[in-house]
Amino acid sequence: MKAVVFRKDRGLVYEEVPDYTVAEDEVLVKTANTGFCGSDHSLVAGGHLADGYILGHEISAVIVEKGAAADGPPVGTRVCIRPTYCGKCANCLSGRPHLCRVHRRTAGIGDLPGGFAEYVKVYPQMLIPIPDGVDSRNAALAETFAAALHGINCTSDRKGSALVMGGGPIGLCAVRLLKIFGYSPVVLFEPVASKRDIAVLYGADQVFDPLAKDADQKAMAAAPGGYRKIFECSGVKANINRAVLLAEDAGEICIVSMIFSPVSLEAPFLVNLKEIRLTASNSNTHAENIQCLNWMAQGKLDARPLISDYEPLSRLPDVYRERIDTGLAVKVLLKIGKEF
Ligand SMILES: [Zn+2]
Ligand SMILES: [Zn+2]
Repeated sequence: MKAVVFRKDRGLVYEEVPDYTVAEDEVLVKTANTGFCGSDHSLVAGGHLADGYILGHEISAVIVEKGAAADGPPVGTRVCIRPTYCGKCANCLSGRPHLCRVHRRTAGIGDLPGGFAEYVKVYPQMLIPIPDGVDSRNAALAETFAAALHGINCTSDRKGSALVMGGGPIGLCAVRLLKIFGYSPVVLFEPVASKRDIAVLYGADQVFDPLAKDADQKAMAAAPGGYRKIFECSGVKANINRAVLLAEDAGEICIVSMIFSPVSLEAPFLVNLKEIRLTASNSNTHAENIQCLNWMAQGKLDARPLISDYEPLSRLPDVYRERIDTGLAVKVLLKIGKEF
């Protein structure tokens, strides 16, 4: 089959790789679409991958073969692929399976090969059937919404004003979900105009360029007293201190982006004075993915406006160099097999 693999010396390469054989407890799916995620970019840029590894975890597919002992939905079912968990560790047993670090099985995020390929081999527990009325492009990107939903779920109540810092795919998904939950106003900070436009389409009440001198003043005018919730979705370290200034008393800051280098708090006493709760989110759950797929079926969520680059798999190495690594793409979605 054809796949895009990571090569230590050349980065992403489109290659012919051996076909899979399916073991007793495994399921083979034929890929329709796979999205390119920010975490894929971090993994390629960081080079922390085995030579020949196949990335890609935002997958829509159809089940084409099942091992004799594999349960789950039948051949022909349209599915999304999400990680499975050990079910035995402290995190799994205390209702946090997405934090499992023991025998966690993922496709395209480090252990099993992923969805930048014509086929993916998975375990039945990884399959989430796609509801009627959700096409393969939307389904592949349900996880992007689920990541934003998980960030919102990592904060307490669902009311008041909300500021999203960063209009990448997860930040934009957060804007849409915050509107569905009834937060008001929902405000976005994003320097790129085309991304601010998508936020407006998704219902943002106000959008500001955070690089403009008066951005903070304008943001405070939109939410007098500050923001009840602030979601850091950009990875810009200075935003943590900015969020402390923009949060209201007893407000919450949730860091959804992954920041890989030290951050210092300029005015930690403000966290005391305002009793700000600082939290963060990691990954997302099966339940959150199912919720997002159901909202897609109801027409409440549509990921397709996020797609800036809609390309065949063979183009991924070039698209990575020209559009992803340069920061020009919003969301790259790959056409791999028959779409639905
Ligand atoms: Zn992702
Ligand atoms: Zn576990």
